[in-house]
Amino acid sequence: MTDLSARSLPGNRRLRFAPSPTGQLHIGSVRTALLSYCLAGHDGRFLVRIEDTDRERFVPTATTGYLEAMAWMGLRWDEGPDIGGPCAPYVESERLEHYHQAADHLLGTGAAYRCFCSRERLDDLRAAQKAAGQPTRYDRRCWRLQPTEVQAELDRGASSVIRLLMPEGESRWDDLVLGPQEFQNAEIDDQVLIKSDGFPTYHLAHVVDDHLMEITHVVRGVEWVPSTPKHLAVYRAMGWVPPEFAHVPLVLGSDHKKLSKRHGSVAVTEYRDMGYLPEALANMIAFLGWSPGTEEEIFSLEELRTRMTFDRLQSSPAVFDQQRLDHLNGVWIRRLSIPDLAQRLRPFLPQAQKPQLEPIAAMVQERIHRLDEVPGLLRFAFADPDPTMEELIGRLEPATAADFLRASIDLVDGSSDDLMSSLRRAAEASASDQGSINRHVRDCMQVVRVAITGQRVSPPLPESIALIGKEAARSRLRRALAKIAMVR
Ligand code: GLU
Repeated sequence: MTDLSARSLPGNRRLRFAPSPTGQLHIGSVRTALLSYCLAGHDGRFLVRIEDTDRERFVPTATTGYLEAMAWMGLRWDEGPDIGGPCAPYVESERLEHYHQAADHLLGTGAAYRCFCSRERLDDLRAAQKAAGQPTRYDRRCWRLQPTEVQAELDRGASSVIRLLMPEGESRWDDLVLGPQEFQNAEIDDQVLIKSDGFPTYHLAHVVDDHLMEITHVVRGVEWVPSTPKHLAVYRAMGWVPPEFAHVPLVLGSDHKKLSKRHGSVAVTEYRDMGYLPEALANMIAFLGWSPGTEEEIFSLEELRTRMTFDRLQSSPAVFDQQRLDHLNGVWIRRLSIPDLAQRLRPFLPQAQKPQLEPIAAMVQERIHRLDEVPGLLRFAFADPDPTMEELIGRLEPATAADFLRASIDLVDGSSDDLMSSLRRAAEASASDQGSINRHVRDCMQVVRVAITGQRVSPPLPESIALIGKEAARSRLRRALAKIAMVR
């Protein structure tokens, strides 16, 4: 196989994101993608490799979904399945020859062996070991087969797997997040490297690929720590130098259990559809495993790429805090220019005309945490409201409400600046009891607000009127008046 003692590929550091296409891109996975992207830095390379050798869990549409979600997040890869690169192809099922070559090498040196044991035998073995209170692992029966016996099995077409012969001794590495790690190899099972369907397992394929792709740093979830000794054994048996490892902690939900569907949304696209900005989600996710060591909390992806270093990766589990995400999203929404916000609101307001979007953006920018709040806030702009009599008049007598509505129809013609003060004056004039004048004014304003927007909470009246137009506002006031008159 390729000798990598002399490095040949571009990039000071080469990091990869290697998802298995089994569903949607989740927060936990995109976290390792984002950390890898940022840690590659501006002078490194970030690769995407699709690990699709588990054919049982393979979902054909998943890869496209992953790439789209990553691109939406603002992650840019230098090499990958869609754009190619010096190590193409970047899809494992298209790289089988590399794994077979490695497996043949391991078989040839005795670092691996063929195993013909049936599923039933392995199940029985496991059950017996469990019953005896022993650790469950393969008993190496096939390792003891003579070469002639192995050949005989192959000749009769017996199905087999290839297993790693876990060497004696210890495995050690200095994890960039967890610090020094040490495992007794005697406690580790002889891992299957090539399955009976001819596909490699993750344990072989990713080692071969990380080597051939000259990956310098592997950033992955802490769940892979127990398997790392197997991977180191493959590197050693192949005569390859392993990359550095950074095992990042679990992402937890608010109840401090591993983040999962139980906690609500976990897929990146669900966050997009809820109206989170990619900037805010990336900012949030960076903190699930990294800390700047200062009080700063707002970082763009490019700032993160400049600032992030391995020594500030965190080893304790991080909690995905929805409230923090809402806060960051609000901050990022307020950082957008009005045309940009208008553009991003588009999918949330399919009924809006293009010229309406910028005024809407200006109106909501200070008020929202999520883009999907806007349709509810502005429902009145796209459909005539139909408030009930109770909603309309609130605490006022019908006659008082009707009088005030009548007066306000003319006032709507005035300029926005005047509108509120003239409405207030009219309301004050209609108060019968001077003692509760403020409350009366509020009640009157509320009648106009509900008549025009159908909502008790809405953007300020002048902006709401500007959005629907004065003519529409007057006609809504007239309709409200007619409704009161009808009931009276
Ligand atoms: N395909 C593995 C996964 O999706 C990748 C683990 C790794 O980054 O090495 O979990």
